[in-house]
Amino acid sequence: MLRVVDVALALPLFRTFSYLPPGDGVEVAPGSRVVVPFRNRREVGVALGTREVPEGERAWKRIVAVPDPDPAVGPALLATAQWISSHYVAPMGVVLRAALPVQLTSAAAPTPAGKRQRVVVLHRHLDSLMERDALFKRSPKQRVVYEHLEANNGRATAAALQERLGVGDGVLRAMAERGLVRMEQEGVLRDPFATRATEPRAAYLPTEAQQAAIDRISQAAPGSVTLLHGVTGSGKTLVYLEVLRRALADPTATAIVLVPEIALTPQTVARFRAWFGDEVAVLHSALSDGERLDAWRVLQRRERRIAVGARSAIFAPLSNVRVIVVDEEHEASYKQAEAPRYHARDVAIVRARHEGAVVVLGSATPSLESWHNAQEGRHTLVSLPDRVGGGVLPSVAVVDLRGPRAPSAEVPDGARVPAPPQAPEERDPFRRVICQSLEEALRERMARGEQSILLLNRRGYASFLQCASCGEVAACPNCSISLTLHRAPERLTCHYCGHHEEVHEACRRCRAPTVRHKGLGTQQVERLLGERLPTARIARMDLDTTSGKWAHADILDRVGRGEVDILLGTQMIAKGLDFPGVTLVGVIDADVGMNLPDFRAAERTFQLLAQVAGRAGRSVKAGHVIVQTRMPEHHAVTCAVTHDYHSFVARELADRRAPAYPPMVRLANVVISGLDEAEVAEVAQSAASWLQRLVENRQLAGVRVIGPAPSPITRIKSRYRWHLLLKSSDGRVLTNVLRFFAERFEVPARHELRVSVDRDPVTLL
Ligand code: ADP
Ligand code: ZN
Repeated sequence: MLRVVDVALALPLFRTFSYLPPGDGVEVAPGSRVVVPFRNRREVGVALGTREVPEGERAWKRIVAVPDPDPAVGPALLATAQWISSHYVAPMGVVLRAALPVQLTSAAAPTPAGKRQRVVVLHRHLDSLMERDALFKRSPKQRVVYEHLEANNGRATAAALQERLGVGDGVLRAMAERGLVRMEQEGVLRDPFATRATEPRAAYLPTEAQQAAIDRISQAAPGSVTLLHGVTGSGKTLVYLEVLRRALADPTATAIVLVPEIALTPQTVARFRAWFGDEVAVLHSALSDGERLDAWRVLQRRERRIAVGARSAIFAPLSNVRVIVVDEEHEASYKQAEAPRYHARDVAIVRARHEGAVVVLGSATPSLESWHNAQEGRHTLVSLPDRVGGGVLPSVAVVDLRGPRAPSAEVPDGARVPAPPQAPEERDPFRRVICQSLEEALRERMARGEQSILLLNRRGYASFLQCASCGEVAACPNCSISLTLHRAPERLTCHYCGHHEEVHEACRRCRAPTVRHKGLGTQQVERLLGERLPTARIARMDLDTTSGKWAHADILDRVGRGEVDILLGTQMIAKGLDFPGVTLVGVIDADVGMNLPDFRAAERTFQLLAQVAGRAGRSVKAGHVIVQTRMPEHHAVTCAVTHDYHSFVARELADRRAPAYPPMVRLANVVISGLDEAEVAEVAQSAASWLQRLVENRQLAGVRVIGPAPSPITRIKSRYRWHLLLKSSDGRVLTNVLRFFAERFEVPARHELRVSVDRDPVTLL
């Protein structure tokens, strides 16, 4: 018998390849990077394991090199990657490329060592003052260094000591010889966050509810999942911090903290830095490839043991992971849009099982999936039902925009409102956008020196350009969505592919004049506000104002320093912001996302309204929320307005039974795209029949094929798109069907035809 190593190449191929070890009797540990001959080239791959084969069966090729001393992928992470490959129907090589820094899957060279720096570590502690005086009698400089180290957790870089205290190598060497300090080498982590202010570590004790949550999570069984359902402002972050602190009391333990997007959650990141200082590596999406590799390396070498980052931080090269926190677990940004189309929350659960870690999923508005899992007993539910410090949830009023053009009527807390009587058309453009009570509330806050947040989940100046006569809407020539009218510079822009063009004064179809002021975007609201409230200090936060690396943080810093009266923005202002000065939240149009052709439209709307409302009144001052809508009876609005998560999920879960949608059924979206529309439709049709036949022949009773149909967005970047849905009551059966389909269904190699499988999709657009 011969021993061969199974290798996943970093290529988009479903199959693996076997090679002989580099030398006879040489062991190649699973997870090691290997260099192998492949089609007359050398390729990098990762060893998955070894197996015995009969001698002389084939002429096996040999592994050329094993570049690193240790496996690049630890055993738990390797098992997790294999799960991702099978669940999301992605080749293992594609998963490895997502999990490892790009340098490690593209080059055959050994993992480069990176920059190192010298660190001076306190080695001998001198408790008695007399001993100190005696030791440092003739070396006052050593005493200065010693006391500096004492005051700084026992560590400092040699460079910092040189800079701050002016001590050179001679002094440090002498101290090392006396056994007072020792020198270590450490990787340099280029951490852009390190230069930004961190929050001081607040000195408060957990509340009773927080303490109960901390205790339960700390005692949870390895591999188990806790859903921490805490209303906005209930202090979920302190629970995460305390759970981490307890787990990390063991010096070999490590932890991963996932946040939806680093730029939007600077406060959460700052709190982790304040508590754990340079044990934290922040994995920012704006890191360069080199910076990412640095971060990967310091984690792998255990120089930092807490990884804080967005989605891909779930691949942090840590071992002995004890805790994985997924903050705002309901956020759609945890799902990756390209292959491998993994959901970081679900990957976290699988990785924790392999690591023996506990998972904490935190949210004020948990996803229906997680809620359902808790109801079915798969997750443990822990609730924080109240705001900390006796704070109350804000009062909410609904304004019905129907009937008269002008929003006018306000009703208290969540009451149903009849459509107000027809009023003469409102000529005041400001009033068409912001009702009287919201305007008054804004003025009141300014007079009291308090702050307001205004949400409009649509950027640009006006939504679209429409013909006054035939109603034709200016649409993108590449994507089937309307173009958004922007000011400064004035032009039409596609929000999917970036196409832009001049504003045309005459309709392209019937030559009648076009009208602009349809729909509403953040830019227009900013201008109207500026005219109406000239003394207001307004900050606008949307994709257009946040292109710079620190743009988000700069805007939020200004709000935090009280230099902004009104923060106006899209959904990015609804995330976990915590500003005690904000006492008013206004939602300009609650219905923006409600009519999207997607089964999650109501869930997303509810989450957005509940989250943005939760930004108001987070300190001793009471908060108030005003929601403008044309759908005041919709359960997404009524439940958000009454802070009633439980009624919302009960209703929404019932709605997902017939027709069945997740979490009541397992779903996959198969998208067929290409340059030729007829061909795309044809392939979609044959894919559907192929799957239908498979289901019938194998008698897969629980599986249903739905479609094909054009995707709601029928064209993106010049590619036509059709899709079909696969629903299954059994996840494993769905995995097998998808795998079989991905491997066997033949896509004609013409006109860039492509088939992609999106398992557990977060959007069907
Ligand atoms: P959320 O549950 O919305 O994520 P946070 O974790 O941001 O809430 O906490 C809300 C606010 O309450 C923060 O300003 C935090 O510093 C404060 N806070 C949290 N726990 C306590 C506590 N035990 N005592 C006093 N203040 C607290
Ligand atoms: Zn486009």
